[in-house]
Amino acid sequence: MGLICSAVYNASIIRNMNMDKLQMSKVILIVEDDVMQMKLVSDLLIRAGYLTVQSIDGTDIIALVEMHRPDLIIMDLQLPKASGLDYTRLLKANDQSKDIPIIAMTGFPLYGGPSSITDAGCVECIAKPITPPTLYEAVNRYVI
Ligand code: MN
Repeated sequence: MGLICSAVYNASIIRNMNMDKLQMSKVILIVEDDVMQMKLVSDLLIRAGYLTVQSIDGTDIIALVEMHRPDLIIMDLQLPKASGLDYTRLLKANDQSKDIPIIAMTGFPLYGGPSSITDAGCVECIAKPITPPTLYEAVNRYVI
C-alpha cells in the first residue's frame, strides 16, 4: 500500500486554483521510501504547480499509473522490495506506461554500474541530496 491520494494531499493548493488551471496541471508520480525525502520532493513539485501521486515502495506503480496517468515519474532506486530499476523495466515493458519519462533519484549515482540507469529506461539520474534547482531543471526537461 503506497498510495497517498494526491487530491487529498494537495487539497489546500487545489482550493486556490481555478478548474482550468487544475485540469492543465501535470501529474508527477514519486516513488520514494524515505518519508522526509518524499515530502521534500513532493512539496517542491506542488509549490511549482504540479500534482503529485506518491508510492512509498513501488509495489503499486502499475495501478497508480493506470489510475492517474502521470506525465512524469521520479523513481528512487533503493527501495525495500525491489530496486527502482526493476520497477523502471516493468513500466517500460507495459504499453500504458512505456512512454512516460522516468527520472532516477539516488544517493549512489553509480548504483549498478554507470550505464545501468539509462539501460533500464530512465531518461536521467538526479543525485541526493536533492536541491530545488536540480529537481526543477530535470523536471522541466520533460514537463512544462
Ligand atoms: Mn530509498
